[in-house]
Amino acid sequence: MEHNIEALTGGAMASIWSWVQAKIPAGVEVFDAHAHIGADIDGRTMTGDGMRERMEAAGVNKSIVFPLNDPNARDDYSGPNDVVWSAYEEYPSSFVPFFRLNPNLDYDREFGRCVERGFMGLKLHPVSQEFELDDSKVVRLFGMAAEIDLPVLIHAGFAMQRIVEPLLQTVEAHPGLRLILGHSAMVEVLSAAHAFEGHRNVLFETSVVQAKDLYELCCSIDPSQICYGSDIPYGDLPSTLHAILAAAEAAGVPEEALPGILSENIRRWFP
Ligand SMILES: [Zn+2]
Repeated sequence: MEHNIEALTGGAMASIWSWVQAKIPAGVEVFDAHAHIGADIDGRTMTGDGMRERMEAAGVNKSIVFPLNDPNARDDYSGPNDVVWSAYEEYPSSFVPFFRLNPNLDYDREFGRCVERGFMGLKLHPVSQEFELDDSKVVRLFGMAAEIDLPVLIHAGFAMQRIVEPLLQTVEAHPGLRLILGHSAMVEVLSAAHAFEGHRNVLFETSVVQAKDLYELCCSIDPSQICYGSDIPYGDLPSTLHAILAAAEAAGVPEEALPGILSENIRRWFP
């Protein structure tokens, strides 16, 4: 385990990692807006301890954490949500816990249980749980989140077909809803940037987005709407930090905007 972590910042990564470290402005405490704890049906796993080790090795101060596409998910996701909550209880200053739901199933009870417990946001995955963003059950869920000012992170990346058009009605109906577009809506990055520009409560999260799309994002939207993410265990902290910092530099994003992208734009949601 220790060896794996060293491999992320040593060996072939050593020069990249020193570039990243030099690029992160002094005093910035990096905030990772997208990371998973638990197990996935594809065999990936991540523990709270494993996450903490990675954060410490890369100097990341806080991470939003939520379940994977968990084989142990009962209908309501309560099991995997409990795993995330336990990790949060162990490291309350490191983790911001989000819960996950399946909008196709009866979600009211688990929504209420998690909100009551103190979870700080909701994660939805339209591909894994097979739903469209304008499905009436999902639109209702967005409304429930908006009503209690609960942030929502949506997987808006790989294998998605429709993002902007089905989401627009929700964003317009609930301008106060705090929405994180996981993977920056990378399959429609330019139309998403155009549609959600100026919607200050919509953030584009940068994990595992192709270099070209990250560059286009950095060229097309105000940096105050961009937040860094890793997608651990699919991404790793050094590589994803390098990707956003390199894209920002190539796109001419001013250095003064980097603390916002790496930390403050999302941190202010969780004072
Ligand atoms: Zn993810």
